Amino acid sequence: MQTVREGGVVVRVPEQAEQGAGDEVFYNPDQELNRDVTVAALRAFRDLDRVETYLDATTATGVRGVRAAADGWDVTCLDVDPEAVDLARANFRANDLRGAVRHRDANVDLHRNRYDVVDVDPFGSPIPFADAAFRGTRKLLCVTATDTAPLCGAHFNAGVRRYGAVPRNTEYHAEMGVRVLLSALARTGARYDVGVTPLLTHATRHYVRTYLELDTGGGVADDAISELGYVHHCPECLHREAEFGLIAHPPDRCPSCEGDQVVTAGPIWLGSIRERAFASAVAGNLDDDMSTRDAAEKLLSTLEAELDTPTHYDQHRLCARWGRAAGPMDDFLDALRGAGFAASRTHYGGTTFKTDAAVAEVREATRE
Ligand SMILES: [Zn+2]
Repeated sequence: MQTVREGGVVVRVPEQAEQGAGDEVFYNPDQELNRDVTVAALRAFRDLDRVETYLDATTATGVRGVRAAADGWDVTCLDVDPEAVDLARANFRANDLRGAVRHRDANVDLHRNRYDVVDVDPFGSPIPFADAAFRGTRKLLCVTATDTAPLCGAHFNAGVRRYGAVPRNTEYHAEMGVRVLLSALARTGARYDVGVTPLLTHATRHYVRTYLELDTGGGVADDAISELGYVHHCPECLHREAEFGLIAHPPDRCPSCEGDQVVTAGPIWLGSIRERAFASAVAGNLDDDMSTRDAAEKLLSTLEAELDTPTHYDQHRLCARWGRAAGPMDDFLDALRGAGFAASRTHYGGTTFKTDAAVAEVREATRE
């Protein structure tokens, strides 16, 4: 066992052999930023709505639940592993905090009980918990997915099976993962007449994280479905087009370069992945106990400013394709804006950007 201080609490966690590989209860130090942002997002959400109960559906060491309890939430933690239950209970006691830790499968519990906020943060895909989570969540559903290879199309068949969508392995693969996950969750909610509004979503390192505000009713569920559609992508010139709706009409040839290699991804979520005001409010709720505060602030401010186009570009990839040297991002974005286009950085990487310009227009606008 080792002791870890995180966000003002101290928890004991097993020595980790390899990422989730051993039999030990899993603690992922790479996700400290995810947990810091979670605490801040829960605070921001509590300012918007009357919420008290928080479920950590797959608790492992209990670290999420302990941190939520330290922040005043009425916490329940679940795990199917009795060792995890014992460890999580010990971690609550060690911090002198109250929380119900139950040896129970979240899929069973969420069919009996409902919580204001439900956090599904399993190792791998959240899909095995998705249906139950929509039944058992009143207001806010937080979801982590670490199976990025299926989500982004690198493991194509697994992505199709698990998420009921066609993912494509493009140069915006992390964003593909975000939008495949949101699509699957929107469609799962819609089965129960629940509509989702993504308040905050980010792809960081090897996971995707989203916070969905839930509303009940056929109309709001229809609204969420209306945010779904397809992206038609040309791997030859990197032109891409989005098409809303559940019936795809892929072009025979790329409208930009006339190439015949166009691939279609979808149905993916084409709508906004966050609300600007919420991203700003989350940033305002970070605090100095959070060791990832600087990185989280940068992430949230980039997310706040990010355009809502469903795909992004990488300046270095484009410049390599065009036989040019890449330049400073700010100059590149200024050139686009100077030509009358909207342009922003994205949180997906330091050389990535979004714009309403087509790829041929990007090339022309940034020509030296
Ligand atoms: Zn093309």
